[in-house]
Amino acid sequence: MTEISLTLPSGEQKTIPAGTTVAEAIKELVSNKERKQTIAARLDDRLVDLSAPIEADATFAPITIDSPEALEILRHSAAHVMAEAVLALFGKEVQVAIGPAIADGFYYDFDRAEPFTPEDLARIEAKMQELVALAAPFRRETMSSAQAIELFEKSGQSYKVELLKDLDAETVSLYRQGDFVDLCRGPHLPHAGWLKAVKVIKLAGAYWRGDENRKMLQRLYGTAFFDPKDLKAYLLQIEEAKKRDHRKLGKELELFAVSDQVGPGLILWQPKGALLRKIIEDHWREEHYRNGYELLFTPHIAKRDMWKTSGHLDFYGENMFSPMEIEEVSYQLKPMNCPFHIGIYNTRKRSYREFPLRWCELGTVYRFEKTGALHGLMRVRGFTQDDAHIFCRPDHLEEEIFNILDLNLHILKTFGFENYEVYLSTRPEKSVGSDEHWEQATTALKLALEKKGLAYALDPGEGVFYGPKIDIKIKDVLGRSWQCSTIQVDFNLPERFEMTYTGEDGKEHQPIMIHRALMGSLERFIGVLIEHYAGAFPVWLAPAQARIMNITDAQIDYSEEVYTELRRSGVRVEKDLRNEKLNYKIREAQMQKIPYMLILGDKEVEARQITVRLRNGDNLPAMSIPEFAALIARENEAGRTGACNS
Ligand SMILES: [Zn+2]
Ligand SMILES: [Zn+2]
Repeated sequence: MTEISLTLPSGEQKTIPAGTTVAEAIKELVSNKERKQTIAARLDDRLVDLSAPIEADATFAPITIDSPEALEILRHSAAHVMAEAVLALFGKEVQVAIGPAIADGFYYDFDRAEPFTPEDLARIEAKMQELVALAAPFRRETMSSAQAIELFEKSGQSYKVELLKDLDAETVSLYRQGDFVDLCRGPHLPHAGWLKAVKVIKLAGAYWRGDENRKMLQRLYGTAFFDPKDLKAYLLQIEEAKKRDHRKLGKELELFAVSDQVGPGLILWQPKGALLRKIIEDHWREEHYRNGYELLFTPHIAKRDMWKTSGHLDFYGENMFSPMEIEEVSYQLKPMNCPFHIGIYNTRKRSYREFPLRWCELGTVYRFEKTGALHGLMRVRGFTQDDAHIFCRPDHLEEEIFNILDLNLHILKTFGFENYEVYLSTRPEKSVGSDEHWEQATTALKLALEKKGLAYALDPGEGVFYGPKIDIKIKDVLGRSWQCSTIQVDFNLPERFEMTYTGEDGKEHQPIMIHRALMGSLERFIGVLIEHYAGAFPVWLAPAQARIMNITDAQIDYSEEVYTELRRSGVRVEKDLRNEKLNYKIREAQMQKIPYMLILGDKEVEARQITVRLRNGDNLPAMSIPEFAALIARENEAGRTGACNS
């Protein structure tokens, strides 16, 4: 029998007979305790089942329930069991489409004439639990594509037949557990008994293959964990996330709206949302100005020819809105601001002496998104990027990237975000620019990250075709990650627009261009902020910082006086002088999450003071109008500088 050699994670080499299964190898090579937690293995770069035979020399690592890959295997297996349960309950009236694992769980798409009801979802979950109790093994089979097509045709599963025909492979693998068989690459759990913590979450519609011209299917979402405790914690988290949903809070707090008449994905900022946005914009502009940036404004449309020069029509055309004709010239809405900033650069000759140029703009762009993909403020068709472009020499790169990171983290901190995931993406296979440039830029990004003391993960080959980039994801209070900031070096656009500067040597050179956004888009960032704070914004951001409430009509004059004086002192104050019970007014202000309630009765009128109630129900000692205005000024300052995020 042929012997083969396995290299273990420790670097140790072991010899086993060829054809040994993973499970057998694990018995030999792995400690008892770890073995009980092993669900699959990695052979070189390939994840395989425990039942897979090992035929050649390879690196070998067991996948235990703590491995990063383990949840995906568990959840993908849960998707198969969900499909098995649905077929068991609804039989011939259902066709199964696809069922992958996703970030927080898994889904399976079903074609069924009748929509699933909430009761159906409960029955499906109960059936899944029955199947889990049977602990049927997942068995892998390989066969010719033709045989697989015949098999699925016989069982009337036409989606699988379509997938197989498109796949056009010689042989395919199928997985079988119980009575259910699915076209699948695997790997899977050894058996369904591992699915001790599984839950059907919700139902949604999804077009077959994401194509709106194809049939709308029913997508059943679920999740699964190895430990029931983790499932419980996750379910609590989704409850909390529902309460914080920015679409729900946006409506309740009257921040923004979307109107059918205006069109989907186009945000209408209501007065309070507009004020919140203005506060954020002012803060952003001030911080940029302080950090050596200059502010730009550019138009929303440009000649189609410019988008040809920039390459957007070739590389980005499908995300752009259709052209419009103006005096027989074709124009198009902007999906990005970059070419406009280049236009400003190219208005005259540039010298190395004015570098680095740091130009920023809150630039509104328009991108086509399918109606089905739109989501509140998070995914829209018109949005404002907090954009900036830096034009500099290659030897400026490291310092400029460092400065960007510095400003970036400072601004995120002022908004209460101090946990990040940082990624550095390097040169992809298809790319422009010389090896030397890529090497230099990638090193500059690395050094800047290290100098800033930021831990980062490498994303090899995931850079944009025009240059390497840094992406920063922020973590919100629920631990969810949001991609916001991006810093990208670009060797492409300066070339396309023939940008030059006169160097120290008196010759013309091509500048380096850096694209950069900190928040990403104002819309999305505000969506994240709403959910992060559950609408209870810190004082410096709150559109209404205080609301005045009188107890009886006897205090109306004094209330008006307090209102006028606070507004003049720059406090964002509202008044509720309706003839309603105080408790009712307080409850409404609390629902609106207003930080301070200023309660005015006879006592306050007499002492010319205000009683201050916090949104958590606590009271502050009575104070004068200027004292309260000073309190707000201190809070504004603390918020803007990131000193506190209360
Ligand atoms: Zn599968
Ligand atoms: Zn750009």
